[in-house]
Amino acid sequence: MRAVDVAGMAVFFLFQGLLAREVLAGLEAFPGHAWWVLTLAGIGGYLWADFVSGFVHFLADNFGSIHTPFLGPVFFRTFREHHVDPLAITRHGFLEVNGANCVVSIPFVVGTYYLVPVRETLLGLAFGAFMFLFLVGIFLTNQFHRWAHLPAPPRWIRALQATGLILGPAHHQRHHTPPFDTYYCITSGLMNPILTRIGFFEAIKGPLGRAVEPIIGRAEEVVVVEPGAGGAAT
Ligand SMILES: [Zn+2]
Ligand SMILES: [Zn+2]
Repeated sequence: MRAVDVAGMAVFFLFQGLLAREVLAGLEAFPGHAWWVLTLAGIGGYLWADFVSGFVHFLADNFGSIHTPFLGPVFFRTFREHHVDPLAITRHGFLEVNGANCVVSIPFVVGTYYLVPVRETLLGLAFGAFMFLFLVGIFLTNQFHRWAHLPAPPRWIRALQATGLILGPAHHQRHHTPPFDTYYCITSGLMNPILTRIGFFEAIKGPLGRAVEPIIGRAEEVVVVEPGAGGAAT
């Protein structure tokens, strides 16, 4: 898995770099538009990353067999074990924490780089900037999630968490309260109050389950047998 993580991260960074170069060229081609393109892409991309983190987390917590190829061990088991042993993420290294998100982001960054006219059209530029910053948010998601579980984070991380712009420990603790069915978003958590208020995940759980369970199977109970951890998550 480590080799996949290393290769995935290298390819991800390479194409993010290439995409960033296209965005910079686009900003030069459309002077005067940089302020709104970057503001919209920054806010929209970062909030969209938070939403996607919550949506994927919601899927992994509620649906899918751990025996599904790739998704089973990488996502379904990881998220469910996290409820049983929330500190495991703090014992994992940088590659282990962030490798999988790089791998799943590759099709999006490569697709945008090759298919979207980022430096030729204003719409292409806006989309390219949005995608770049969205994927930066996705890349940071597991890191922010890990920090929210550190028993004693360094002061600069606590200061960042205090701004509310990245996931905070008290905020994230609401998800770690059984039955683990709320506050799924783990990039900034900014989308959590909104999605809770509109009952988003409750509304989609039934219909979505009927659509995806025939493909990825039902979520089975996961038991962690590592020393110091026990019990089961749903
Ligand atoms: Zn969860
Ligand atoms: Zn957590």
